[in-house]
Amino acid sequence: LPGLYIVATPIGNLGDIGARAAAVLARADLIAAEDTRVTAKLLSHLGLRIKMTPYHDHSDERARADLVARMENQVVVLVSDAGTPLISDPGYKLVRDARAAGRHVTTLPGPCAAIAAITLSGLPSDRFLFAGFLPNKAKARADTIAEFAGLRASLVFYESGPRLAATLAALAEGLGNREAAVAREITKLYEECVTGPLAELATRYADAPPKGEIVIVVAPPADDMTEEADEATVDAALREALAD
Ligand code: SAM
Repeated sequence: LPGLYIVATPIGNLGDIGARAAAVLARADLIAAEDTRVTAKLLSHLGLRIKMTPYHDHSDERARADLVARMENQVVVLVSDAGTPLISDPGYKLVRDARAAGRHVTTLPGPCAAIAAITLSGLPSDRFLFAGFLPNKAKARADTIAEFAGLRASLVFYESGPRLAATLAALAEGLGNREAAVAREITKLYEECVTGPLAELATRYADAPPKGEIVIVVAPPADDMTEEADEATVDAALREALAD
């Protein structure tokens, strides 16, 4: 069926490419890739030679319109350099325009660093907020962290090695010294997941900035906040009962 196929690719270990993803790549008429050189490596691993075009959400409107036009009678596959397209990666505007044009849009789900990190962290996974990359500037970063402080959910951030310690310190400052996990190089040779209170992790990585790709997971606020809320609920219920 012609249309737009959103295909997740490995986040490190090429063996993680799905059978269905490989099959769709093999019969693609055109692959819209974040970086065609990166995707070329995946295609050569799969023994495929498929036409590619670079795609970014800031690609001009005409390039996007051209892709959407092709989807009418061609299989157009969207991939990013690693993991799930649209997750801190290009694609949202292409999906939006493909939908608006009434094209067939489907997804082949697969690796995603945020989900992989949540599963590794041992932190509550029932509710989490994916926060992507924090802003670079200290003020904007602190403001963004403050927005998350009251949420009763685990928080997931993407980060790079050189910024890791500063980000952990800013999180400790803005959220309190919560439990956290630093998941690094997931599915690769040096995969590791280090857990501890935010301030301790900040100190650890200040001495030795780690290499590779990183996801930070932060636990929800401690239970005493929940208990406070529960007490307030109980008090309110009691007052209401006694008012009768
Ligand atoms: N779309 C991708 C996904 O589904 O995870 C994320 C793309 S984003 C531009 C790249 C960031 O994802 C990296 O800076 C890092 O924070 C995280 N990441 C990607 N691969 C990773 C890995 N193997 N281990 C840990 N973090 C990873």
